Amino acid sequence: LPRLPVFEAIARHDPGSTVVVHSGSGRRFRYGELLGDVCKTRDRLCHAAGRSDLDGERIAFLVENSYDYVVTLLAILATRSIAVPLSPAFPAPELQYILNHSEALMLLSSAKFASKAEELLKTELDVQPIHLQLDKFQGGGTPEKVALDKTKPGNAGMMLYTSGTTNRPKGVLLPQSVMTAQARSLIHAWEYTPTDRLLHVLPLHHIHGTINAVFTPLFTGSSIEFLFPFNADAVWKRLAAPFLTPDQTPDPASPRHRPPITFFTVVPTVYSRLLATHKHLDPDLQSAARAAISPAHLRLAISGSAALPTPIKRAWSDLSGGNVLLERYGMTEVGMALSCGLDAADRVDGSVGWPLPGVEARLVDVDTQLVIERGRERDADGRERVGEIQLRGPTIFSEYWRNPEATAREFVTPDDKEPGQHRRWFKTGDVAVRRPVEGAGRSALPSQRDWARGDMYFILGRRSADIIKSGGEKVSALEVEREMLALPQVAEVAVLAVPSGRWGQKVGAVVILDREHAAPDGRWSPLEMRRALKGRLAHYKIPQVLKVVSHIPRNAMGKINKKQLVKDIFQ
Ligand code: ATP
Ligand code: MG
Repeated sequence: LPRLPVFEAIARHDPGSTVVVHSGSGRRFRYGELLGDVCKTRDRLCHAAGRSDLDGERIAFLVENSYDYVVTLLAILATRSIAVPLSPAFPAPELQYILNHSEALMLLSSAKFASKAEELLKTELDVQPIHLQLDKFQGGGTPEKVALDKTKPGNAGMMLYTSGTTNRPKGVLLPQSVMTAQARSLIHAWEYTPTDRLLHVLPLHHIHGTINAVFTPLFTGSSIEFLFPFNADAVWKRLAAPFLTPDQTPDPASPRHRPPITFFTVVPTVYSRLLATHKHLDPDLQSAARAAISPAHLRLAISGSAALPTPIKRAWSDLSGGNVLLERYGMTEVGMALSCGLDAADRVDGSVGWPLPGVEARLVDVDTQLVIERGRERDADGRERVGEIQLRGPTIFSEYWRNPEATAREFVTPDDKEPGQHRRWFKTGDVAVRRPVEGAGRSALPSQRDWARGDMYFILGRRSADIIKSGGEKVSALEVEREMLALPQVAEVAVLAVPSGRWGQKVGAVVILDREHAAPDGRWSPLEMRRALKGRLAHYKIPQVLKVVSHIPRNAMGKINKKQLVKDIFQ
């Protein structure tokens, strides 16, 4: 195998320790078998392609969340090609788009998705990928010592498609050096250890599920338990299992025995589903579940990919006896960029924290286009300066695949005095403010945590969709959403920019009412809404139009396409 840092790390781990568990069956795979299986799969890929050098080719794969996914991903890296994970949940046109756009040389599938892959290849495609159905690994193999040779990693890497929230998904190229830098940054910040056990309930074609919860734990010898698709009851049962009374707990030798989960990283909607479900569990299970998520057992519960509503954060903390969710901000193009800290005092409501180790961040004033220097977060009139987040460093992607225009547009032209790939600033398209926070980032921390210092970042939303320009004022949709969610009447909300002849844009709110607190007739008038928000928000931030609905469409990562929603509801 080529001497990739991830392979070197895996080769060093205790061969007997668990790398993957399949939650349903309890099947267990060990670090000692992993590289042997990677080698075998790499050889099969080269054989099927009819050549030994696949450097830089794109290999798409449809494999369920399992040990086989991990093997496949690593085997593709081992051939020095670019892994393109596909979502089995995508409709055919989406999959066709990705196969064509990535110009995939091969399409790999597990047995489960072999017929789906066959069907896909029968459709009209611009490319003709070779289909290969992969072996299913059973676990329990003998540990093997695999030699790492001097082969260079070449163009090995991943290509992930963005969530497509604002446009057609873009192919984001992440060379293996970028993947490795992202993993190292997270290990530094979140302190993954060999004793960490992650419960994994996310899709595996996004950065969150793939890099944070699969690639990174492989470096530290942590174990990953796949439970997919997400099901709130099943998650509670799994979390609670080790905390049931002794007669309910299986013998430690049995495959049904499960140790406590220490690490959980998901999107805000998952926490909200878990909170809603917990109320309906059996009393025994309820209390075992609470014990399972207490800070003493669940070391780290992380939220990201969309803004974390404060009521969810509070409710989780109350339920768990003080486990404060850690919020972080990231995107496909940059991996994770900003994060709150490991100390509970460093998880401030509404903030995404500080730039992660190795990441440089700056805010560029959306009005003046000037960098907002530290200490100049307010203008002469004391108003907060709002800036676009720009990032640079070794964790940033290299390019949008086959889209040099977009790549050129989204990077600030490099300053000639600072040459080099890592010196280019990437424009995230998200806007934020920086604020000093009393007590945060100031505790006497071990030197390792020295990145969590200074003013904290607060995301206001996407520049294109969340900054509503109404009558000369700028309103952050996220800020309005946060305040509305704090009202007992509101279960879910999306705040939108609604076109208006008079104001340019109006603040619009689409609301799902809370069943327990809404009026019995299920109505909520704009007047009642305004009354409830008075004193919470400045008058120009209070929505001018309101629509009560029973469902707000979200994509697989819990995100709302706001441009579409405005069209569907207000136009
Ligand atoms: P597309 O680029 O195709 O429109 P997308 O931007 O939703 O889709 P991702 O890369 O999956 O695709 O998501 C990144 C975006 O998610 C960020 O740009 C940001 O707007 C949002 N995001 C991530 N974390 C947070 C957070 N903690 N708070 C608020 N927004 C967040
Ligand atoms: Mg995006």
